[in-house]
Amino acid sequence: AACLEITQPRAFTRHQRGVIMGVFMVYQNYQNLLDYSERDALTGLLNRKTFEDQFLRHAGSAPASCDDGDEPRQWLAVIDIDHFKAINDRFGHLYGDEVLILVANVLRSQFKSQDRIFRFGGEEFVVLLRAITLAQTRRALERLRMAIESHSFPQVGRVTVSIGFVASQLGSPVESLGRADQALYHAKENGRNQVCFYDDLVRSGVLQPKIAHDEVELF
Ligand code: GH3
Ligand code: MG
Ligand code: MG
Repeated sequence: AACLEITQPRAFTRHQRGVIMGVFMVYQNYQNLLDYSERDALTGLLNRKTFEDQFLRHAGSAPASCDDGDEPRQWLAVIDIDHFKAINDRFGHLYGDEVLILVANVLRSQFKSQDRIFRFGGEEFVVLLRAITLAQTRRALERLRMAIESHSFPQVGRVTVSIGFVASQLGSPVESLGRADQALYHAKENGRNQVCFYDDLVRSGVLQPKIAHDEVELF
């Protein structure tokens, strides 16, 4: 939202009011076009095209120093609906679309306004979480997982998601996305409906850290 105040000592003439209204209409139209090109038509979430830009802006806004040492403060999570193909197959595409819209609504309700939520592909979502600790991030993602698990989806019933996440200010957009994706893949392979943190998996030797050059294939 924005607010613009225009003042002059004398009352505005009819002509001046007309000009001001005209400029506002052009601006509003322009803003709508911008919104339209940045958002996914089905869910209204940000689309994939805007990811890199938002990622860099998000990283750029990180506080230069934190009072709790070097703990990362920016996070990237990839969220993927479990067995979504089966939902489409059993109930049809329209119910599948409805699930996507409802999951998007749960996402919007679970994150703060300074976080950024994207629909990345079919049933895959990405969230950039800002300025919180690892413990807070775990809690937020676990809360999201449980909110979806306990939501009653019309006709479809129970839907679950798997989530992979990583600290995002340590790598490029592509690197961070690749790592979160690796963690997500692990969640999928190990029962789904769970949250996996990339660093936990690397530390415990389950995941091999990827070298940068083979991550380019993700885009
Ligand atoms: P997994 O738990 O491993 O993620 O299994 P999955 O079935 O969710 O994953 P998979 O990637 O095999 O299937 C995703 C399906 O999502 C395939 C495609 O038909 C469906 N899909 C993609 N985009 C849309 C969409 O916009 N609307 C609907 N209804 N379905 C979509
Ligand atoms: Mg899926
Ligand atoms: Mg998928």
